Amino acid sequence: MNFSEIGLGPEVLRAVEDAGYTQPTPIQEQAIPWVLQGRDVLGCAQTGTGKTASFTLPMIEILANGRARARMPRSLILEPTRELAAQVAENFETYGKHHKLNMALLIGGESFGDQIKKLDRGVDVLIATPGRMIDLFERGNILLSDIKIFVIDEADRMLDMGFIPDIERIVALLPKMRQTLFFSATMPPEIKRLADNFLMNPREVSVSPPASMAETVTHAMTIVQPDDKRSALRHLLKTEDVKNALIFCNRKRDVAILHKSLEKHGFNAGALHGDMPQSKRTETLEAFKKGEITLLVCSDVAARGIDIAGLSHVFNFDTPLHAEDYVHRIGRTGRAGKLGRAFTIANPEEGKQIAAISKLIKREIPLISIDGIDLAEFEELSDRRRRRPARKDEARRDEPRKEEARREEPRREEEPRAAVARAPKPVEARPPRPEREARPDREQRVDVMRSEPPRRDRDDRRRRREEDDDDEVVIGFGDHVPAFLLRRARPLAAPEA
Ligand code: AMP
Repeated sequence: MNFSEIGLGPEVLRAVEDAGYTQPTPIQEQAIPWVLQGRDVLGCAQTGTGKTASFTLPMIEILANGRARARMPRSLILEPTRELAAQVAENFETYGKHHKLNMALLIGGESFGDQIKKLDRGVDVLIATPGRMIDLFERGNILLSDIKIFVIDEADRMLDMGFIPDIERIVALLPKMRQTLFFSATMPPEIKRLADNFLMNPREVSVSPPASMAETVTHAMTIVQPDDKRSALRHLLKTEDVKNALIFCNRKRDVAILHKSLEKHGFNAGALHGDMPQSKRTETLEAFKKGEITLLVCSDVAARGIDIAGLSHVFNFDTPLHAEDYVHRIGRTGRAGKLGRAFTIANPEEGKQIAAISKLIKREIPLISIDGIDLAEFEELSDRRRRRPARKDEARRDEPRKEEARREEPRREEEPRAAVARAPKPVEARPPRPEREARPDREQRVDVMRSEPPRRDRDDRRRRREEDDDDEVVIGFGDHVPAFLLRRARPLAAPEA
């Protein structure tokens, strides 16, 4: 099948040709005809499959007729991160270059003024992160009653980042008569339930089984003591033919530390995480895309879905806390049929995470040793679990998964380190963490939402999440001023004369 057979008009076809695409990818082939027919679509596809064009191309076609009114966008695309939102906006510019559609990108970290001006002029396509979208709605700068097409992209990531209550709020503001396109890389039951609520009689399209791994990526891991991780990485960077690479850390502070260390050792590296000002994030990403920086040390939130043409390597400086993230991280390379290489530098305490990854991707990650660095072995974790006292907060399941994972982390200071064995040993498969299953169902979550703290606290928390804040230390009341402190004191009665 080629593009002209799936119902796109001549201008869009011309833009697609200009982009150098000769054939639609499987997700485009499946989704575009349904979107053009006005049907709701539930798409299970990971980034790198051509998913963005599968909704942007037909949207341009549909929106080509008609005009937007001031503050009343005609379509809305929600993305979990600023980088992804910016990337979708770039796609719109590429594919919509022969149309006169107005687009606005509403993301945090950039001035409200420019975004409001654009909204005032009327936009056909609004691309936003949920937090900024709600902020502008609450300020009265957007009316959502004219939305004809609504897209939720990377729904599973939205869930991880705790955005689902915001999205439910946004959906409640949209007209009932609309077309909804819902995409997720994975389709766990809670995402499916959400989709059932948002979509009407959708066509389901899926291009690969959930969390599958691209066949074009060769991957391997090594196990070393934490102190050896940086030298292991440096060794890999020197011995592998690295053209450009993403290096993932689990925490922002480690992104900064590793970035400094690589620079000190003479590597051409940049850093990307949620604490950086947006202008710096954009600048760094641009420099990386242009090849001015060859190594980008990053956190998951900042790098999710980033499309770098021909990325040669991905390094997991830390083993991802969630098995799905492994697939997303290494999926940055080996895109569009190109070959890629991915290396994970695990430490002895991460056997449980590696076992969950192996189970998810249904294969072992080949173990390699690094010259001059002792190969360690995974510690036995089952005893640790048994010994760990029950936590008071074990029943609280409404928090973002990231939070939960942090509580699940091994408590290093309490655990004596097991003897380090030299010989590589096959990874023993253990059951994955039961987080998803253990979460409350939708009804329970609605109750949790009803009993949530006041709006202002919620917003603060939301913004912190959006900024991928994992090291936040709140002092005293933090930003929150308790209501009793704001109450006016009654004047004392004047003493009787
Ligand atoms: P996405 O999954 O949307 O992030 O797209 C991944 C990459 O595939 C992007 O660099 C797109 O430019 C590219 N792409 C999208 N559609 C096609 C196509 N039909 N042929 C070749 N490349 C494509």
